[in-house]
Amino acid sequence: MNYKEDVFADVYTLAHEAGHSMHTWFSQKSQSFQDYEYPIFLAEVASTFNEELLTHHLLEQTSDPKMRAYIINRQIDDIRGTVFRQTMFAEFEKIIHAIEENGDALTLEVFKSEYHKLLEAYFGQNFVLDPQLDLECLRIPHFYNSFYVYKYATGISAAVALAERVLSSKPGSVDAYLGFLRSGGSKFPLETLKTAGVNMGTSAPVESTLKLFERRLGELEGLLLA
Ligand SMILES: [Zn+2]
Repeated sequence: MNYKEDVFADVYTLAHEAGHSMHTWFSQKSQSFQDYEYPIFLAEVASTFNEELLTHHLLEQTSDPKMRAYIINRQIDDIRGTVFRQTMFAEFEKIIHAIEENGDALTLEVFKSEYHKLLEAYFGQNFVLDPQLDLECLRIPHFYNSFYVYKYATGISAAVALAERVLSSKPGSVDAYLGFLRSGGSKFPLETLKTAGVNMGTSAPVESTLKLFERRLGELEGLLLA
């Protein structure tokens, strides 16, 4: 990776990519050849878990309100970009597939109007939607891989839940997390995560990530309005 010491974002990138490296390293050491590769559903869990630990560490290090606001704003933007935005993309994808399966034509007008409805629903009334924004759905390359985008939202939610367990020193949580890194693709992803301590078959992990978002928003407001 490219790394410059004076670029703050690079520290996050380094932590993120180190998460992938640890995941690969532990899986390769622990699994047989046919099982070591982890599936996409798990891929971004290890990387974003590291980012969560870094955020926690940085906030412990500083009481400077401007620095704290910067770190918190970064996390808020991260959750906005992965949980809310990617879920909106996933909903668009689901609607478009359903229209096609129903035998209806996917014209430019259909894409634009379906996407516009979602923008209105997700951004709410106080956000001005430029007409060009209806075309945004056409520039997301991930749609060429069916149902890829939702994994950003589930990945960060699982990572937040696992990081909260480790940071609160829950007994056995570190071993469970290392067990997750060692699992590779040896089990179904939901089972792997369940063994690590997070049940993605329930709404709890996503809800607790939304709660973290809300808490951080409150903290940022407090820092900026102080
Ligand atoms: Zn990644």
